[in-house]
Amino acid sequence: MPVRIFANDGVPIERAAVDELLGLLELRETIARMREAAPELFDGDAYLEAVSLSSDFHRGAGIPIGTTLKTRGVAVPQAVGTDVNCGMRVHTTGLTYDQVQGRLDALERPVRHIFFEGGRRIGLTPIQREAMLHEGIPGLLQSDALKDEAWLAAADELNRINGGGGAPTDVPAMFNDYIRGSGGSGGVTFDTQIGSLGGGNHFLEVNIIMNIHDRATAHAWGLREGQVVIMVHTGSLGLGHTATAVGKAAMRALLPSGMSLPNNGITVLPLGERCAETRAAVRAAIQTASNFAFANRFYLARMAIQALEQEIGEVGASLLWDSPHNLLWEEEDGVVVHRKGSTPARSPEALANTAFPWGEPVIVPGSMGAPSFILRSLGNPDALYSACHGAGRALSRGEAQRGCDAELDEFLARFRVVTPVDPRQIRGRADLVEAWRAELKQEAPFAYKNIGPVIDTLRGAGVAEPVVELHPIMTVKG
Ligand code: 5GP
Ligand code: MN
Ligand code: MN
Repeated sequence: MPVRIFANDGVPIERAAVDELLGLLELRETIARMREAAPELFDGDAYLEAVSLSSDFHRGAGIPIGTTLKTRGVAVPQAVGTDVNCGMRVHTTGLTYDQVQGRLDALERPVRHIFFEGGRRIGLTPIQREAMLHEGIPGLLQSDALKDEAWLAAADELNRINGGGGAPTDVPAMFNDYIRGSGGSGGVTFDTQIGSLGGGNHFLEVNIIMNIHDRATAHAWGLREGQVVIMVHTGSLGLGHTATAVGKAAMRALLPSGMSLPNNGITVLPLGERCAETRAAVRAAIQTASNFAFANRFYLARMAIQALEQEIGEVGASLLWDSPHNLLWEEEDGVVVHRKGSTPARSPEALANTAFPWGEPVIVPGSMGAPSFILRSLGNPDALYSACHGAGRALSRGEAQRGCDAELDEFLARFRVVTPVDPRQIRGRADLVEAWRAELKQEAPFAYKNIGPVIDTLRGAGVAEPVVELHPIMTVKG
């Protein structure tokens, strides 16, 4: 089985991530033992077909983040990040740096209001929520949840979402509480999940296009120097965790009696007829969470557009691309593709009939306060048509949290971060200030690798070519 590692020149590979990779490869043994103990669970051949590790690969609780895994005859639900359909979305705008440069203080007000002070009023009825979980953004379009302008924007954008913004699925009963909402009356309620960033390294960012590396593609994609673009990174929040827990429990229940779990706790879902029910249940949970995540990114981008409209004026936003980096799907030829922190980067030919004859946009965020890139995929089969999904961590959360005070002060002095806690409101409360600082340190640029070598690796390995470089001017953290 080919295992390809796209390592960055001069950047050491973490020992723990290599251990996790070896643990993943041991699944071959798990499959063999399962076939021996319970052959009835398998219909034909079952094996890991190929693994590729992207240039930001790092340790990830059992399976490295940055893994693309192809299997046949079995699926590995744990080879999807817990945050099902975590992904990236980028909108271009008609605004330029000059129009927003002097207005960032003022812009912070509607951003704070809409994102953190109850200003986001995404009202949905239970029927509309169910339609969203059933089908994602197409479900929202059919359920009257979006009015006029939002409806038109969403309908026009579907072909610029990898996965079409959602796919029909049965919605498992465990999501009924979410569907009913907190109102209980069956009317419109404002739920607390949709339109949430989630914590940690999820973000909404206002960026400026600074360097154009590929003029022809930038032009074709409507990207210009000095242009304001909006970038969203988030996923399925609590719904993804629920779906992941379902997958894990189902896998364990399928283990033949007497067979122990491998050390890393990772096991497989045989795809034989006998497992059809489990397979359907796992797929439904994952697809439901994925549908929610597409809708969540859609709403978050609209919230940012609304804040810009309130403060600056007409935004002229248009979706460039939206793509999941945590997901699993079956391809026509029976191969199951798993992504855990791995961005699709298909060949231009594979996309020839879509809006992107130049290759798939590949969005690679750097870190808070640091540059990010939008690239054009070249379609590299050795990389399993995948690219990295970020710069990747350099320090663990714990490491970053201890010390690094001077670095954080330097960072805060030059960069604007909007968080649910407003530091001006907690002055004098040393404990709260300390907690706020500790959280920011975990996500500050010094906690992440430099994006430069990551992009060089993508280019050098023929995975993707940079089109534009983005510099952030405001980051909203959940
Ligand atoms: P993950 O999907 O593994 O949670 O994170 C993806 C990547 O996002 C990280 O590896 C990091 O490179 C990047 N990242 C984290 N926080 C930020 C941020 O605030 N802004 C930008 N542009 N990138 C970030
Ligand atoms: Mn996520
Ligand atoms: Mn993510």
